[in-house]
Amino acid sequence: MNPSEWFTEQVPAAGSAFSLKIKQKVHEEQSEFQHLEIYETETFGNLMVIDGCTMVSTRDNFFYHEMMSHPALYTHPDPKRVWIIGGGDCGTLSEVLKHPSVEQAVQIDIDERVTRLAEIYFPELCESNNDPRAELKFIDGIKWVKDAAPDSVDIIIVDSTDPVGPALGLFSEDFYRDCFNCLSENGMIVQQSESALYNMTLIGEMRNAMSVIGFNHLQTLFFPQCIYPSGWWSATIASKADLTTFREQDSANKPFETVYYNVDIHKASLAQPEFFKNAFGL
Ligand code: SAM
Repeated sequence: MNPSEWFTEQVPAAGSAFSLKIKQKVHEEQSEFQHLEIYETETFGNLMVIDGCTMVSTRDNFFYHEMMSHPALYTHPDPKRVWIIGGGDCGTLSEVLKHPSVEQAVQIDIDERVTRLAEIYFPELCESNNDPRAELKFIDGIKWVKDAAPDSVDIIIVDSTDPVGPALGLFSEDFYRDCFNCLSENGMIVQQSESALYNMTLIGEMRNAMSVIGFNHLQTLFFPQCIYPSGWWSATIASKADLTTFREQDSANKPFETVYYNVDIHKASLAQPEFFKNAFGL
């Protein structure tokens, strides 16, 4: 294997790595916040890499973007105001805007360069950016939430990089408390929570911090994501209200196209693996 023909993300702690065969590196820059690279791959379309970690590929981003948005939006009784913290590639934003109930969707990414590159290399993810309900802000999501008024949002989707650098504070008790304070009565956060095979300590810390500050209902969802470490990813919903049911009829009759998400996938993603139940007493 000629290393110059492959992009590889190593996960030293797990003793594993994931590679994609590349045609060429099409862009590289150091933004104010992080190191950004775009590759044209042989079989996965374009690939965005931030600080050496795979973020988005043309071929498989639908798993992540659909599962970060539709389960939460079909669990909340009437989601009108949605914030996406991070998510600069705009894929989650475009899924959120598919819901007719949504009146306002604000994407708050610290790094404008991620969105500018997505507009060039992932235009299909940015097609809804001019929707009149969409707003793009380029500031720190931690500050945005801290400064927000009570009852100003129904769902906060935390579509961030891994918990290092500017994203570290997005996994903290202080951040969850600020989210709790600005969410409406049935409000919820959904946050990407890494791999349950590799990152159980992190997931445990997240769930603990979320419940300590007052989110009494937690639900971790599982889905495939082959470009992320271990190929098996998760999102954790923390809610002020019960999470045992969702708007199943609405999901079954969804008025938009998806590639992965449907009502059966939603139900399946709620099933909790045995080791996970044992770890968290579920
Ligand atoms: N799907 C990806 C994953 O799980 O690896 C995440 C993709 S998205 C591109 C991650 C975004 O989080 C980046 O654009 C980065 O700029 C943003 N981000 C990191 N820390 C942030 C912060 N404190 N506030 C707002 N956005 C942040």
